[in-house]
Amino acid sequence: MSNNNHSINEFDFQLICEYFSSTDRQGPGNESSTLKAFSYLKDLPNHPKITDLGCGTGSSSLVLAKHTDAHITAIDLFPLFIEKLNTRAQQAHVTIKIHATVGDMGELPFEKASFDVIWSEGAIYNIGFQRGMNEWYPFIKTGGYIAVTEATWLTEHRPKEIENFWTDAYPEIDTLPNKVKQMEEAGYRNIITFVLPEECWTKEYYIPQQKAQEIFLEKYPDNPTAQALVSNQRREAELYQIYKEYYGYVFFIGQK
Ligand code: SAH
Repeated sequence: MSNNNHSINEFDFQLICEYFSSTDRQGPGNESSTLKAFSYLKDLPNHPKITDLGCGTGSSSLVLAKHTDAHITAIDLFPLFIEKLNTRAQQAHVTIKIHATVGDMGELPFEKASFDVIWSEGAIYNIGFQRGMNEWYPFIKTGGYIAVTEATWLTEHRPKEIENFWTDAYPEIDTLPNKVKQMEEAGYRNIITFVLPEECWTKEYYIPQQKAQEIFLEKYPDNPTAQALVSNQRREAELYQIYKEYYGYVFFIGQK
C-alpha cells in the first residue's frame, strides 16, 4: 500500500482503506518469507513478545500467530484494517495470541524494552526507514530483534523512469548496503538480509488486486479518486514487470 505517492496523498482515505482492505495483503510478502525471517531469531523466550507495526489486515501477524508461540501486539493507523485482522484471527482461531489495536507507529504507546521483536512488513516507509530504526530501538529488549521489509534498490544504477517513480513515491529508497549501514548506525547488529522472491509481488500482491480493482471500479464507476487509485496501482504493477531486476523488497533483520 503506497500512500506516499503524491497523487494518492490527495485521495479520500476511506476509499483507499476500502480498496486495500479488500485484499489479504497491503504490501508485497508471503508466508514463507515471514517464517524464513522468524527462523533467524535465535534464543528467544518460549513466548516471545512481538509487535507488528503497520500490520494492515494482518497477513504477517496471522502467520506468526499460527506458526510460532509468540504473543503479538498488532498496530495499524486504520480501524478498518484492525477490524478485518480481528475477524481473520477469529476465523484462524488465534485470537488468544493476537491483540490488535489502532495506533501510530510514529508515537508508540509502549514502555521501553517491552518487546523481544519488532516486526514490520512493508510499512516502516510510512515514517521512513531511518526514523523507524532509531525511534523503535528503545522499545526492544537488549538481545531482541528488529525484522522489517523495505523497498530497496538492488543495483547501483537503474533507468531514469523507475528511478524517478520510486524517488517520487519514497525518497528514502536506497541501496541494500546503504540500508544496512543505516541499521547499524541506529545500533543494531546486522543478522541477515534477504530479497523477497518475485511471487511476493505478483501472486501475493498485484494479482489479487486485479479482481479487487474490477469490483472497486464497478462500485464507484464515476469516482475520480477510485479511477486514479486503480490506475496508479496498475501502473505500479506494470513498472514492476519492466524493472523488477532493479528493485525489490528486502528483509532486514537486526539485533539490539
Ligand atoms: N504489514 C501489512 C501492511 C503493509 S501496508 C502487510 O504486509 O500486508 C502499510 C500499512 O501501514 C498500512 O496498513 C497502513 O494503514 C499502515 N500505516 C500507515 N501509516 C501508519 C502509521 N503512522 N502508524 C501505523 N500504521 C500505519
